[in-house]
Amino acid sequence: MAIRQASLLLYIVMITAGWAYPVLGIGLLVFMALVVLSGRRKKWCGSYCPRGSFLDLVMSKVSPKRPIPRFLTSRKTWATGFALFVGLFVFQLWRAGLFGPWDGSSLMQLGLIFYRMCLVSSAVAIPLALWKNHRSWCAVCPVGNIMRA
Ligand code: SF4
Repeated sequence: MAIRQASLLLYIVMITAGWAYPVLGIGLLVFMALVVLSGRRKKWCGSYCPRGSFLDLVMSKVSPKRPIPRFLTSRKTWATGFALFVGLFVFQLWRAGLFGPWDGSSLMQLGLIFYRMCLVSSAVAIPLALWKNHRSWCAVCPVGNIMRA
């Protein structure tokens, strides 16, 4: 199976079952770490990212493929999105007690947080794909901007 199809499958499994199996969120984190550690960071968005594969292989078929709105590509929008993303992530870590001592459930709590972040960002990415361009989300995606830096 080609890497893009495999990462699309990972995305579908993650979105549909991640709430029940938070270990999938950890799996995604490990997968990302392996790609970075193997020196393929810059290939993440084009080849490995599960959501990127979903956007390219599925959403591109129903997207009008218009140009990405300019406000989405501005530095201000990116900085706002990045601050929101990090803020939301840190808030969830704090709420789950992950800044304190970890217990037996902490790793799964972290997996659930990754799942939620993935779900929320997909809830933004899909309408953007239907509205303008299947890769609109990628203009503001904090992970993608870090990977491509
Ligand atoms: S920009 Fe974000 S969603 Fe798009 S391919 Fe890269 S990491 Fe994935």
